[in-house]
Amino acid sequence: KERVDQIRKELDMHVSGADVAKPCISFAHFGFDEALLDVIIKHGYSEPTGIQKQAVPIALSGRDIIGIAKTGSGKTAAFIWPMLIHIMDQEELSKGEGPIGLILAPTRELASQIFTEAKKFAKAYGLRVAAVYGGASKMDQFKELRPGGVEILVGTPGRLIDMVKMKATNFRRVSFLVLDEADRMFDLGFEPQVRSICDNIRPDRQTLLFSATFPKKVEALAREVTTEPVRISIGYVG
Ligand code: ADP
Ligand code: MG
Repeated sequence: KERVDQIRKELDMHVSGADVAKPCISFAHFGFDEALLDVIIKHGYSEPTGIQKQAVPIALSGRDIIGIAKTGSGKTAAFIWPMLIHIMDQEELSKGEGPIGLILAPTRELASQIFTEAKKFAKAYGLRVAAVYGGASKMDQFKELRPGGVEILVGTPGRLIDMVKMKATNFRRVSFLVLDEADRMFDLGFEPQVRSICDNIRPDRQTLLFSATFPKKVEALAREVTTEPVRISIGYVG
């Protein structure tokens, strides 16, 4: 207990929530298999970042997370790795279609960055990833998603809704949802679309919400879309 408090203090980390998994200070402690560890090491990562140390074990335990940490702290991998493990654990992986992991991002740039990062690690298990966003051809994205579909889908809220309307995909299998850069989602006026997507995903899903800042409106949304979340903040405490 004291050791855990000490690790969190060193990381300038605050964790709130009951029955929370302990931080893991090295990749070896995450319990990842050889395939994923190989990709991580090949990528030149030698140690998890602060947010990864705590968010990964908590996400692997199945809990919802509200993660607040500044840009550049390694949040993408913190949700991609548990998402991959979650997908590989799903019995319906070989049945039906449509993504099991869904990531909402506020901008095209961010969606493509997450796509690149996700693809890199998804290779470990041969999982398929796609990204959809505005400012690019709907028809091309439609074709990308059909037929067969993907296990991981990243997108901006508006375009994701378009793709569902066009029946390029559906959210029926989604059981691991990530809202990345929730604060920017608000700044760009995507709150209604984000809510509409969340309302259409099964309520027993696992939800991870990340934000660099945590104003009241983001807190309100976070509370609505998560269930008994663990809140992890690094540095900034809102
Ligand atoms: P954030 O989403 O918090 O802004 P990113 O996920 O985009 O941060 O990561 C920032 C950079 O750090 C990326 O270039 C990423 O590849 C790198 N990175 C992530 N995790 C690690 C790690 N454990 N060790 C070294 N570099 C990492
Ligand atoms: Mg990020």
